[in-house]
Amino acid sequence: MTKRQPPVDGLCEECGFNYGTGDLQGTVTLLVRQAAETAMALTKAAAGPDPDVVRLRPEPDVWSAIEYACHVRDVLEVQRLRIAQCLAEDRPMYAPMDRTGRVKEAKYEDQNPVEVAAALMRFAREFGAAARVLTPAELGRLGLYNYPVRAPRTLSWIVRHTAHEIQHHRHDLISILAEVEPPIVPAPRPVEDGTDQEATAPEGVTS
Ligand SMILES: [Zn+2]
Repeated sequence: MTKRQPPVDGLCEECGFNYGTGDLQGTVTLLVRQAAETAMALTKAAAGPDPDVVRLRPEPDVWSAIEYACHVRDVLEVQRLRIAQCLAEDRPMYAPMDRTGRVKEAKYEDQNPVEVAAALMRFAREFGAAARVLTPAELGRLGLYNYPVRAPRTLSWIVRHTAHEIQHHRHDLISILAEVEPPIVPAPRPVEDGTDQEATAPEGVTS
């Protein structure tokens, strides 16, 4: 969950993804590599001194690293199924993936980071395998896509958009881990200006 909705065309200034550049094979290679980087960042943080760092939300309405990783994993699976649906149906209408509902329903925050990372990489390879073999005619096939607004989209766009999702959330996940690490049990530190910090400091730290 990001506060601003990332673009679905052109250049994303936040993560640098550009819908207008790169061929199919290059886009898929980028996607698989960035999925692996996302998985590695997650497992590395989970293997650190405080494994729960992956479950920390930097702000109440910003997802934690494990929540982003679960989202990316699910996006990869849903998008692969959409490729199959588009090849099988004449006018496919994709069911919304319910990105926010899944967070609670699938208990993203309780999931095992090692298992999530492994599934994320497996789904990236499977998505990549499905995308790499698409012919130019198949890449031009249309389906009705719901996000961010209901619109007909080509399979070519779906592949690029999926690559953007991975790049964008890799960026989110790494930024969040940088923000929350090193975490959790900070050494007591002197109150700097004695104003509002007194009120929010944990009990015992300031006495
Ligand atoms: Zn982006």
